[in-house]
Amino acid sequence: MITESILAFNQVSKVYHRKNAEVTALKDLSFSLPPDSSTLVTGPSGSGKTSLIYLAGLIKTPSSGKICIKGVPTSDLDDSERSLMIRNEIGFIFRRANLLPYLNILENVMLPMSSPDEGKAGKLLEKAHVDKWDRFPSDMSPEEVQKVTLARSLVNDPAIVLADEPTAELDREATANFLELLGKIDATLLLTSSQSSLHNFFDKSYMLEYGVLRSYP
Ligand code: ADP
Ligand code: MG
Repeated sequence: MITESILAFNQVSKVYHRKNAEVTALKDLSFSLPPDSSTLVTGPSGSGKTSLIYLAGLIKTPSSGKICIKGVPTSDLDDSERSLMIRNEIGFIFRRANLLPYLNILENVMLPMSSPDEGKAGKLLEKAHVDKWDRFPSDMSPEEVQKVTLARSLVNDPAIVLADEPTAELDREATANFLELLGKIDATLLLTSSQSSLHNFFDKSYMLEYGVLRSYP
């Protein structure tokens, strides 16, 4: 059997309708992510990175085109199937980790679990090189916060991890540490950044310019 791509975009566009204007955020994107690959998408502010992550994560729907996850056309899913797909197959990491301030590290990681499993959460935190799990997000560095978010994104063993500018708040060394950790995860990775200098950490890189996707040279 041919290995299906994990995520495939086929001629995908996203148009937002504002009061008097239309904004084409993404224009005819076609690409596919093979299993266990890592892909970087770089582009300046406003180029469409977050729109791409929202579409790939089934949070928003395309204006045209087709998005398949593990070969399943996502437009065929009803609301509950879509929720299940998101919960079972997709992990998210955002620029500002949305950890809950009143839960400690371990509790934050356990939050997306359908049945709480401290052992599993602990293992993921160990893999992410985070210790002292009774600390609260306010006691952690930005790098540690993102490592906790990484652990949390993996609790349901997703096929895909979508990371929208996760290193934007990190310095160079913290960025390198975080990307090295991400390189070891057992999932297909799609990550956006405004820094094309990160391309060495990835199997494949693209650039977004005004919603048009190009292979990085
Ligand atoms: P990036 O993450 O690279 O900054 P975005 O995907 O956020 O890019 O935005 C791409 C374009 O789409 C920008 O011109 C932005 O203003 C526009 N846009 C994003 N979200 C909306 C929205 N909800 N309504 C209208 N326009 C939007
Ligand atoms: Mg953005």
